[in-house]
Amino acid sequence: MIPNTNYGNLKDSYLFYNIAQKTAAYLENNPGKQLLRMGIGDVSQPLCPAVIEELKNAVEDQAHIETFHGYMPECGAPFLRETIAGYYSKRGIELDTDEVFVSSGASDELGDILDLFGRGKTVLIPEPAYPAYVDANIMAGNTIVHLPSGRENGFLPEPPENRSIDIIYICSPNNPTGAVFNREKLKKWVEYANNIQAIILFDAAYEAFIEEEDIPHSIYEIPGTKTCAIEICSLSKTAGFTGTRCGYTIVPKTIVRGEMNLNSMWVRNRTTKTNGISYILQRGAAAVFTDEGQKQIHNTLSIYKQNAKTIMKALDKAGIWYTGGKNAPYVWLECPNGMDSWQFFDLLLNEIQVVGTPGEGFGTCGKNFFRFSTFGKPADTNEAAKRLLKLLG
Ligand code: PLP
Repeated sequence: MIPNTNYGNLKDSYLFYNIAQKTAAYLENNPGKQLLRMGIGDVSQPLCPAVIEELKNAVEDQAHIETFHGYMPECGAPFLRETIAGYYSKRGIELDTDEVFVSSGASDELGDILDLFGRGKTVLIPEPAYPAYVDANIMAGNTIVHLPSGRENGFLPEPPENRSIDIIYICSPNNPTGAVFNREKLKKWVEYANNIQAIILFDAAYEAFIEEEDIPHSIYEIPGTKTCAIEICSLSKTAGFTGTRCGYTIVPKTIVRGEMNLNSMWVRNRTTKTNGISYILQRGAAAVFTDEGQKQIHNTLSIYKQNAKTIMKALDKAGIWYTGGKNAPYVWLECPNGMDSWQFFDLLLNEIQVVGTPGEGFGTCGKNFFRFSTFGKPADTNEAAKRLLKLLG
Protein backbone atom coordinates (compact mmCIF):
# COMPACT_ATOMS: atom_id res chain seq x y z
CA MET A 1 0.00 0.00 0.00
CA ILE A 2 1.50 3.35 -1.02
CA PRO A 3 0.00 5.71 1.61
CA ASN A 4 1.19 5.66 5.20
CA THR A 5 -1.75 3.75 6.67
CA ASN A 6 -0.90 5.09 10.13
CA TYR A 7 -2.77 8.24 9.09
CA GLY A 8 -5.92 6.12 9.24
CA ASN A 9 -5.32 5.80 13.01
CA LEU A 10 -5.44 9.55 13.59
CA LYS A 11 -8.51 10.78 15.40
CA ASP A 12 -10.22 13.78 13.83
CA SER A 13 -8.79 16.91 15.34
CA TYR A 14 -12.24 17.83 16.50
CA LEU A 15 -11.20 20.13 19.35
CA PHE A 16 -10.54 23.35 17.43
CA TYR A 17 -12.99 22.38 14.70
CA ASN A 18 -15.75 21.94 17.28
CA ILE A 19 -14.87 25.22 18.98
CA ALA A 20 -15.00 27.03 15.62
CA GLN A 21 -18.32 25.37 14.73
CA LYS A 22 -19.95 26.19 18.04
CA THR A 23 -18.78 29.81 18.08
CA ALA A 24 -19.83 30.33 14.44
CA ALA A 25 -23.29 28.91 15.20
CA TYR A 26 -23.59 31.13 18.26
CA LEU A 27 -22.69 34.27 16.30
CA GLU A 28 -25.13 33.38 13.55
CA ASN A 29 -27.95 33.04 16.07
CA ASN A 30 -26.88 36.09 18.07
CA PRO A 31 -25.79 38.71 15.55
CA GLY A 32 -23.87 41.65 17.00
CA LYS A 33 -22.65 39.76 20.10
CA GLN A 34 -18.91 40.14 20.80
CA LEU A 35 -16.99 37.05 21.88
CA LEU A 36 -14.07 37.24 24.30
CA ARG A 37 -11.59 34.67 23.07
CA MET A 38 -9.67 33.22 25.99
CA GLY A 39 -8.80 29.98 24.28
CA ILE A 40 -6.24 31.08 21.78
CA GLY A 41 -2.66 29.86 22.05
CA ASP A 42 -1.51 32.68 19.77
CA VAL A 43 -0.01 35.86 21.16
CA SER A 44 -1.66 39.28 20.94
CA GLN A 45 1.34 41.59 21.49
CA PRO A 46 3.71 42.60 18.65
CA LEU A 47 7.42 41.86 18.28
CA CYS A 48 9.60 44.05 20.50
CA PRO A 49 11.44 47.11 19.05
CA ALA A 50 14.91 45.50 19.37
CA VAL A 51 13.80 42.62 17.14
CA ILE A 52 12.07 44.89 14.63
CA GLU A 53 15.17 47.06 14.37
CA GLU A 54 17.42 44.06 13.71
CA LEU A 55 14.99 42.57 11.17
CA LYS A 56 15.07 45.89 9.28
CA ASN A 57 18.87 46.00 9.39
CA ALA A 58 19.02 42.47 8.03
CA VAL A 59 16.60 43.31 5.21
CA GLU A 60 18.90 46.20 4.31
CA ASP A 61 21.88 43.80 4.25
CA GLN A 62 20.07 41.71 1.67
CA ALA A 63 19.88 44.76 -0.63
CA HIS A 64 23.65 45.09 -1.13
CA ILE A 65 26.16 42.82 -2.78
CA GLU A 66 28.69 43.27 0.03
CA THR A 67 26.29 42.21 2.79
CA PHE A 68 23.91 39.91 0.92
CA HIS A 69 23.38 36.38 2.32
CA GLY A 70 22.17 33.41 0.32
CA TYR A 71 21.69 29.96 1.84
CA MET A 72 22.43 29.89 5.54
CA PRO A 73 24.15 26.94 7.26
CA GLU A 74 21.53 24.20 7.70
CA CYS A 75 22.01 23.84 11.46
CA GLY A 76 21.93 27.58 12.11
CA ALA A 77 24.01 30.72 11.66
CA PRO A 78 27.10 30.60 13.89
CA PHE A 79 26.22 34.02 15.37
CA LEU A 80 22.83 32.73 16.57
CA ARG A 81 24.10 29.33 17.76
CA GLU A 82 26.76 31.15 19.82
CA THR A 83 24.19 33.60 21.18
CA ILE A 84 21.88 30.78 22.28
CA ALA A 85 24.77 28.84 23.85
CA GLY A 86 25.58 32.08 25.74
CA TYR A 87 21.97 32.27 26.98
CA TYR A 88 22.34 28.75 28.45
CA SER A 89 25.74 29.59 29.88
CA LYS A 90 24.17 32.36 32.01
CA ARG A 91 22.28 29.55 33.78
CA GLY A 92 25.45 27.50 34.26
CA ILE A 93 24.76 25.16 31.34
CA GLU A 94 27.77 24.82 29.07
CA LEU A 95 26.92 23.82 25.51
CA ASP A 96 29.12 23.54 22.45
CA THR A 97 27.71 25.79 19.74
CA ASP A 98 27.25 22.73 17.55
CA GLU A 99 24.91 21.23 20.13
CA VAL A 100 22.53 24.12 19.32
CA PHE A 101 20.35 23.77 16.21
CA VAL A 102 18.33 26.73 14.94
CA SER A 103 14.85 25.72 13.80
CA SER A 104 11.73 27.22 12.35
CA GLY A 105 9.83 26.52 15.56
CA ALA A 106 9.05 23.83 18.08
CA SER A 107 6.13 22.18 16.28
CA ASP A 108 8.26 21.24 13.31
CA GLU A 109 10.96 19.84 15.56
CA LEU A 110 8.68 17.84 17.86
CA GLY A 111 7.63 15.73 14.91
CA ASP A 112 10.80 15.86 12.77
CA ILE A 113 13.01 14.72 15.66
CA LEU A 114 11.31 11.31 15.44
CA ASP A 115 13.55 10.72 12.42
CA LEU A 116 16.30 9.97 14.95
CA PHE A 117 14.49 6.89 16.18
CA GLY A 118 13.61 3.73 14.30
CA ARG A 119 9.99 3.02 13.50
CA GLY A 120 7.68 1.19 15.89
CA LYS A 121 9.05 2.76 19.07
CA THR A 122 7.15 2.98 22.35
CA VAL A 123 6.48 6.54 23.39
CA LEU A 124 5.31 7.75 26.79
CA ILE A 125 3.08 10.81 26.74
CA PRO A 126 2.07 12.30 30.09
CA GLU A 127 -1.42 13.74 29.69
CA PRO A 128 -3.12 16.19 29.35
CA ALA A 129 -0.73 16.95 26.50
CA TYR A 130 -0.14 19.26 23.56
CA PRO A 131 -2.02 17.32 20.83
CA ALA A 132 0.89 17.34 18.35
CA TYR A 133 2.85 14.81 20.46
CA VAL A 134 0.17 12.19 20.01
CA ASP A 135 -0.53 12.87 16.34
CA ALA A 136 3.13 13.00 15.24
CA ASN A 137 3.72 9.62 16.86
CA ILE A 138 0.61 8.06 15.35
CA MET A 139 1.83 9.23 11.92
CA ALA A 140 5.23 7.66 12.65
CA GLY A 141 3.57 4.35 13.56
CA ASN A 142 4.80 4.43 17.15
CA THR A 143 3.00 2.83 20.07
CA ILE A 144 1.77 5.44 22.53
CA VAL A 145 1.59 4.80 26.25
CA HIS A 146 -0.69 7.46 27.76
CA LEU A 147 0.21 8.50 31.30
CA PRO A 148 -2.78 10.32 32.78
CA SER A 149 -2.40 12.90 35.53
CA GLY A 150 -4.91 14.76 37.65
CA ARG A 151 -5.67 17.07 40.50
CA GLU A 152 -4.28 14.52 43.01
CA ASN A 153 -0.71 14.97 41.69
CA GLY A 154 -1.13 18.59 40.58
CA PHE A 155 -0.95 17.37 36.95
CA LEU A 156 2.71 16.47 37.50
CA PRO A 157 2.84 12.68 37.06
CA GLU A 158 5.74 10.57 38.32
CA PRO A 159 7.55 8.06 36.11
CA PRO A 160 5.56 4.83 35.72
CA GLU A 161 6.60 1.25 36.56
CA ASN A 162 6.69 0.42 32.83
CA ARG A 163 10.32 0.14 31.77
CA SER A 164 9.71 -0.65 28.10
CA ILE A 165 9.68 2.96 26.94
CA ASP A 166 11.94 4.41 24.24
CA ILE A 167 10.88 8.07 24.12
CA ILE A 168 9.33 10.32 26.77
CA TYR A 169 7.71 13.71 26.12
CA ILE A 170 7.89 16.20 28.97
CA CYS A 171 6.53 19.72 28.68
CA SER A 172 7.28 22.14 31.51
CA PRO A 173 5.83 24.74 31.94
CA ASN A 174 3.01 22.66 30.57
CA ASN A 175 0.50 23.33 27.87
CA PRO A 176 -2.40 22.95 28.67
CA THR A 177 -2.15 22.70 32.47
CA GLY A 178 0.42 25.41 33.25
CA ALA A 179 1.92 22.96 35.79
CA VAL A 180 5.70 23.11 36.23
CA PHE A 181 8.19 20.48 37.37
CA ASN A 182 10.56 21.58 40.11
CA ARG A 183 14.13 20.22 40.24
CA GLU A 184 13.31 17.32 42.54
CA LYS A 185 10.40 16.11 40.40
CA LEU A 186 12.28 16.51 37.14
CA LYS A 187 15.26 14.63 38.60
CA LYS A 188 13.06 11.54 39.01
CA TRP A 189 12.28 11.62 35.30
CA VAL A 190 15.95 12.01 34.38
CA GLU A 191 16.90 9.06 36.60
CA TYR A 192 14.09 6.99 35.09
CA ALA A 193 15.18 7.83 31.52
CA ASN A 194 18.84 7.07 32.23
CA ASN A 195 17.91 3.79 33.98
CA ILE A 196 15.86 2.51 31.08
CA GLN A 197 18.01 4.18 28.37
CA ALA A 198 15.04 6.16 27.06
CA ILE A 199 15.32 9.60 25.48
CA ILE A 200 13.42 12.55 26.94
CA LEU A 201 12.09 15.11 24.46
CA PHE A 202 11.84 18.15 26.72
CA ASP A 203 9.51 20.83 25.38
CA ALA A 204 10.65 24.13 26.90
CA ALA A 205 8.45 26.38 24.75
CA TYR A 206 7.29 28.30 27.85
CA GLU A 207 10.56 28.54 29.81
CA ALA A 208 10.60 32.33 29.63
CA PHE A 209 7.47 32.47 31.82
CA ILE A 210 9.25 30.90 34.79
CA GLU A 211 9.70 33.25 37.74
CA GLU A 212 10.46 30.99 40.69
CA GLU A 213 14.02 29.99 41.57
CA ASP A 214 13.25 26.32 42.18
CA ILE A 215 11.83 25.76 38.70
CA PRO A 216 14.37 24.73 36.06
CA HIS A 217 14.19 26.64 32.76
CA SER A 218 16.11 23.89 31.01
CA ILE A 219 16.26 20.15 31.66
CA TYR A 220 20.07 20.45 31.51
CA GLU A 221 19.92 22.13 34.93
CA ILE A 222 19.43 18.57 36.22
CA PRO A 223 22.69 16.60 36.48
CA GLY A 224 22.96 13.55 34.23
CA THR A 225 20.68 14.94 31.55
CA LYS A 226 23.19 15.30 28.77
CA THR A 227 23.04 11.55 28.23
CA CYS A 228 19.29 11.29 27.87
CA ALA A 229 17.54 14.51 26.86
CA ILE A 230 16.91 16.61 23.78
CA GLU A 231 15.48 20.05 24.50
CA ILE A 232 13.14 21.78 22.08
CA CYS A 233 12.49 25.47 22.48
CA SER A 234 10.78 28.24 20.58
CA LEU A 235 10.67 32.02 20.39
CA SER A 236 6.94 31.89 19.57
CA LYS A 237 5.65 32.65 23.05
CA THR A 238 8.91 33.98 24.50
CA ALA A 239 9.17 36.79 21.98
CA GLY A 240 5.98 36.79 19.87
CA PHE A 241 7.49 34.81 16.98
CA THR A 242 4.35 32.74 16.28
CA GLY A 243 4.06 34.28 12.83
CA THR A 244 7.75 35.05 12.37
CA ARG A 245 8.95 31.47 13.10
CA CYS A 246 12.20 30.68 14.85
CA GLY A 247 13.18 28.23 17.56
CA TYR A 248 16.08 26.08 18.67
CA THR A 249 16.79 22.51 19.62
CA ILE A 250 19.61 21.22 21.80
CA VAL A 251 21.02 17.80 20.97
CA PRO A 252 23.98 17.05 23.28
CA LYS A 253 26.93 15.26 21.72
CA THR A 254 26.95 12.88 24.68
CA ILE A 255 23.72 11.08 23.78
CA VAL A 256 24.75 7.76 22.30
CA ARG A 257 22.53 4.76 21.72
CA GLY A 258 23.67 1.55 20.07
CA GLU A 259 27.02 3.24 19.28
CA MET A 260 25.23 5.93 17.30
CA ASN A 261 25.65 9.57 18.24
CA LEU A 262 22.35 11.45 18.12
CA ASN A 263 24.01 14.84 17.59
CA SER A 264 25.86 13.60 14.49
CA MET A 265 22.66 11.99 13.26
CA TRP A 266 20.74 15.25 13.69
CA VAL A 267 23.42 17.15 11.76
CA ARG A 268 23.05 14.60 8.97
CA ASN A 269 19.27 14.95 9.13
CA ARG A 270 19.21 18.75 9.02
CA THR A 271 21.80 18.97 6.25
CA THR A 272 19.65 16.58 4.22
CA LYS A 273 16.16 17.85 4.99
CA THR A 274 16.54 21.62 5.44
CA ASN A 275 18.36 24.51 3.86
CA GLY A 276 18.48 26.56 7.01
CA ILE A 277 16.41 29.40 8.46
CA SER A 278 16.44 32.75 6.70
CA TYR A 279 19.28 35.15 7.50
CA ILE A 280 16.77 37.91 8.27
CA LEU A 281 14.89 35.87 10.85
CA GLN A 282 18.05 34.66 12.53
CA ARG A 283 19.23 38.25 12.93
CA GLY A 284 15.84 39.14 14.45
CA ALA A 285 16.05 36.08 16.74
CA ALA A 286 19.54 37.05 17.93
CA ALA A 287 18.15 40.43 19.06
CA VAL A 288 15.87 38.60 21.54
CA PHE A 289 18.96 37.59 23.55
CA THR A 290 20.57 41.03 23.82
CA ASP A 291 20.17 42.92 27.12
CA GLU A 292 17.76 45.31 25.46
CA GLY A 293 15.84 42.46 23.79
CA GLN A 294 15.53 40.57 27.08
CA LYS A 295 14.26 43.67 28.86
CA GLN A 296 11.70 44.32 26.15
CA ILE A 297 10.38 40.75 25.85
CA HIS A 298 9.98 40.57 29.62
CA ASN A 299 7.96 43.77 29.50
CA THR A 300 5.65 42.06 27.03
CA LEU A 301 5.52 38.86 29.10
CA SER A 302 4.48 40.94 32.09
CA ILE A 303 1.32 41.90 30.19
CA TYR A 304 0.41 38.21 29.90
CA LYS A 305 1.37 37.64 33.53
CA GLN A 306 -1.00 40.40 34.58
CA ASN A 307 -3.73 38.69 32.54
CA ALA A 308 -2.98 35.47 34.44
CA LYS A 309 -3.33 37.27 37.76
CA THR A 310 -6.66 38.73 36.67
CA ILE A 311 -8.02 35.30 35.77
CA MET A 312 -6.64 33.67 38.92
CA LYS A 313 -8.15 36.36 41.11
CA ALA A 314 -11.59 35.75 39.61
CA LEU A 315 -11.25 31.98 40.09
CA ASP A 316 -10.03 32.43 43.67
CA LYS A 317 -13.04 34.58 44.45
CA ALA A 318 -15.36 32.05 42.81
CA GLY A 319 -13.73 29.23 44.82
CA ILE A 320 -12.70 27.27 41.73
CA TRP A 321 -9.70 24.92 41.82
CA TYR A 322 -7.01 25.61 39.25
CA THR A 323 -3.36 25.09 38.52
CA GLY A 324 -0.95 27.08 36.31
CA GLY A 325 -1.05 30.83 35.77
CA LYS A 326 2.18 31.16 37.75
CA ASN A 327 5.37 30.47 35.76
CA ALA A 328 3.10 29.66 32.81
CA PRO A 329 0.70 31.39 30.43
CA TYR A 330 -2.17 28.93 30.90
CA VAL A 331 -4.69 28.57 33.70
CA TRP A 332 -6.20 25.09 34.02
CA LEU A 333 -9.33 24.93 36.10
CA GLU A 334 -11.73 22.30 37.30
CA CYS A 335 -15.16 22.78 35.77
CA PRO A 336 -17.63 23.74 38.52
CA ASN A 337 -20.60 21.65 39.66
CA GLY A 338 -19.31 18.43 38.11
CA MET A 339 -19.74 19.75 34.58
CA ASP A 340 -17.68 18.19 31.83
CA SER A 341 -15.50 20.48 29.75
CA TRP A 342 -17.89 20.77 26.78
CA GLN A 343 -20.83 21.57 29.05
CA PHE A 344 -18.73 24.28 30.67
CA PHE A 345 -17.67 25.54 27.23
CA ASP A 346 -21.35 25.87 26.21
CA LEU A 347 -22.23 27.59 29.47
CA LEU A 348 -19.49 30.22 29.07
CA LEU A 349 -20.30 30.78 25.40
CA ASN A 350 -24.05 31.11 25.85
CA GLU A 351 -24.16 32.96 29.14
CA ILE A 352 -21.16 35.29 29.08
CA GLN A 353 -19.77 35.04 25.52
CA VAL A 354 -16.38 33.82 26.74
CA VAL A 355 -14.57 31.18 24.66
CA GLY A 356 -12.04 28.88 26.32
CA THR A 357 -10.64 25.45 25.50
CA PRO A 358 -12.25 22.24 26.78
CA GLY A 359 -9.73 20.07 28.59
CA GLU A 360 -10.97 16.90 26.93
CA GLY A 361 -9.14 17.97 23.79
CA PHE A 362 -5.81 17.31 25.53
CA GLY A 363 -6.53 13.74 26.66
CA THR A 364 -9.35 11.93 28.43
CA CYS A 365 -8.04 12.92 31.88
CA GLY A 366 -8.83 16.53 30.92
CA LYS A 367 -12.55 15.74 30.64
CA ASN A 368 -13.59 17.84 33.64
CA PHE A 369 -11.06 20.62 33.20
CA PHE A 370 -10.81 23.75 31.12
CA ARG A 371 -7.97 25.91 29.78
CA PHE A 372 -7.80 29.66 29.73
CA SER A 373 -4.97 31.25 27.80
CA THR A 374 -3.45 34.49 29.06
CA PHE A 375 -2.26 35.63 25.63
CA GLY A 376 -5.29 37.80 24.93
CA LYS A 377 -5.56 41.55 25.07
CA PRO A 378 -5.74 42.88 28.66
CA ALA A 379 -9.07 44.65 28.08
CA ASP A 380 -10.67 41.40 26.88
CA THR A 381 -9.17 39.44 29.76
CA ASN A 382 -10.41 41.96 32.34
CA GLU A 383 -13.89 41.87 30.89
CA ALA A 384 -13.89 38.05 30.69
CA ALA A 385 -12.78 37.80 34.34
CA LYS A 386 -15.56 40.19 35.39
CA ARG A 387 -18.18 38.16 33.57
CA LEU A 388 -16.79 34.89 34.95
CA LEU A 389 -17.05 36.14 38.48
CA LYS A 390 -20.60 37.35 37.93
CA LEU A 391 -21.57 33.94 36.54
CA LEU A 392 -19.72 31.72 39.02
CA GLY A 393 -19.04 33.86 42.08
N1 PLP B 1 5.08 23.12 22.22
C1 PLP B 1 4.05 23.54 22.95
C2 PLP B 1 3.83 22.94 24.29
C3 PLP B 1 3.19 24.51 22.46
O1 PLP B 1 2.15 24.92 23.20
C4 PLP B 1 3.42 25.07 21.18
C5 PLP B 1 2.54 26.09 20.60
O2 PLP B 1 1.51 26.43 21.08
C6 PLP B 1 4.50 24.59 20.46
C7 PLP B 1 5.31 23.63 21.01
C8 PLP B 1 4.77 25.08 19.07
O3 PLP B 1 5.45 26.20 19.03
P1 PLP B 1 5.98 26.82 17.64
O4 PLP B 1 5.15 28.02 17.39
O5 PLP B 1 7.41 27.13 17.91
O6 PLP B 1 5.82 25.79 16.58
